[in-house]
Amino acid sequence: MMDSYTYSSRTIAFWATMLFAIVFMISMNITPAQASSSFFAKTWDADATFNIGHRHAGFRNSSFNSSVQSADNPWDNTSGAWFDFNWGGYDQSVTTWGGCTTVPSGEIWVGTGAISPLGLESTCATSTTIVTSTITVDRTGRTWHMSSSTSVPSGSHDLRSLLVHEFGHAAGFAHITSGCSGTSRPTMCSTLPKGTSYMRTLQSADKTEFAAAY
Ligand SMILES: [Zn+2]
Repeated sequence: MMDSYTYSSRTIAFWATMLFAIVFMISMNITPAQASSSFFAKTWDADATFNIGHRHAGFRNSSFNSSVQSADNPWDNTSGAWFDFNWGGYDQSVTTWGGCTTVPSGEIWVGTGAISPLGLESTCATSTTIVTSTITVDRTGRTWHMSSSTSVPSGSHDLRSLLVHEFGHAAGFAHITSGCSGTSRPTMCSTLPKGTSYMRTLQSADKTEFAAAY
């Protein structure tokens, strides 16, 4: 009797688990279909992992690392959005940026390079879905503020502000073009003024569009 009773319990537990798994898979598949922001041509269909790859010697420090690792927080903390960036790790050997085949599927890599803009994000995607992304921070001719302090010297650009902006692009966000002046401008406006850190924090336009896409 005991054996028979135990077997029945396990059978019930098995099918209950299977039912839960099926319901969970269905809900996972439904979630991406909620995308409805005109600022996002494409979106991820699952959370993305972000990593730090090759950095110029001047960026191989804990300040750069912590700037990257904190830049996803404003997006992850946006209420109503399911999408999250998950910290992956470091791989200094990753030296190629922007190539669809050099970045593992489902991942975002952050590194530095000699580029013209402050930062650059390049996305690889299918017709509807983002597959990989790379974020490059310019390592030439800039004075970067890499401290967590929000007091940014007047001649410096705040690295963390740039990275919050680039993570927005990595999620599929295009530039916001209205309200882009003064100290309450959205983070997804295209310019980052020197001596400021307010673009570390998302404005309502950033949050609303992100939540609409995810
Ligand atoms: Zn941009």
